[in-house]
Amino acid sequence: VKATGRNGFHFYRQEMQQQVTDRAAIEKALHSAIANDEFYLVYQPQVNKHGQLIGFEALLRWQSDELGLVAPNRFIAIAEEVGLIDEIGCWVLEDVCQQLKVWQEIGLPALFEGVAVNISPYQFAKDSFVDTVKAVIDSTQIDSSLLDLEITESMLVENIPSVAEKMWRLKEQGVRFSIDDFGTGYSSLRYLQHFPLNQLKVDQSFVRDLSNDLNSQVIVNTIVSMADHMNLSVLAEGVENAPEKDVLESIGCVRYQGYYFSEPVKSEVATRYLCDKVTF
Ligand code: C2E
Ligand code: CA
Ligand code: CA
Ligand code: CA
Repeated sequence: VKATGRNGFHFYRQEMQQQVTDRAAIEKALHSAIANDEFYLVYQPQVNKHGQLIGFEALLRWQSDELGLVAPNRFIAIAEEVGLIDEIGCWVLEDVCQQLKVWQEIGLPALFEGVAVNISPYQFAKDSFVDTVKAVIDSTQIDSSLLDLEITESMLVENIPSVAEKMWRLKEQGVRFSIDDFGTGYSSLRYLQHFPLNQLKVDQSFVRDLSNDLNSQVIVNTIVSMADHMNLSVLAEGVENAPEKDVLESIGCVRYQGYYFSEPVKSEVATRYLCDKVTF
């Protein structure tokens, strides 16, 4: 509770009330969001140390008729709780693959590795997950290695055999895996060995103030050398300025994503980035 002073409790109650209303309104509106075509994806560039485009992360946007633009941090958790995330996640996968199909036909730059898609643990846990991904790849006929599935560390510490088995089945298809928000969860080297991973995404909390904070530098340095030994790429998230990028590069992290290069953009702009071979 942030509020203090004489009216603290009063403010707190108001805030709680607001949250309860929001939650109910969001839940209600979420049920018709797909049918009403209220979701769309934006794409945030991922770049190498020369600023060349190596990929995009697809990020979900919800333009609700009733609530306006609702940020994913406000609705993803609710969608997970009420059992809608699987349907939403399938929509995301399908939309990404259809977009990849279009881009594949236009012709992709040599350095372009593909599109990262956020996978909710609930979505991944479904028995049908592997088949769903395969079906989308088949129906869109995309090169499966263009798909980079972002999973979280927490998924890797629970039910290891079943998670690993699903990942290996998808790996056989050519699909790639990244660990999102790396460093914020519980995974250790021991856990990571079980899974067919391609990349660690360093969480933006370590990137922030990297230029002043020696602790973060040591952490990122450790992640980079560990990843090196395991043959994994490392991509830093949330890079917001040149000093951060410079420190990362000096530490040996050469893949980046963040506002310093580009914010997430609509698909038309992403297409232009690809066609014009824009550097950032
Ligand atoms: P995330 O996967 O860690 O995504 C990165 C978030 O950081 C995005 O927020 C992105 O817009 C934001 N960001 C990018 N560059 C910068 C930067 O330089 N500085 C700062 N401060 N932020 C930056 P967004 O789009 O609001 O998404 C928030 C979270 O919602 C995502 O975090 C992800 O966990 C979840 N999410 C988004 N799209 C999907 C989706 O399709 N499926 C699922 N399951 N979750 C999604
Ligand atoms: Ca649409
Ligand atoms: Ca992500
Ligand atoms: Ca992240």
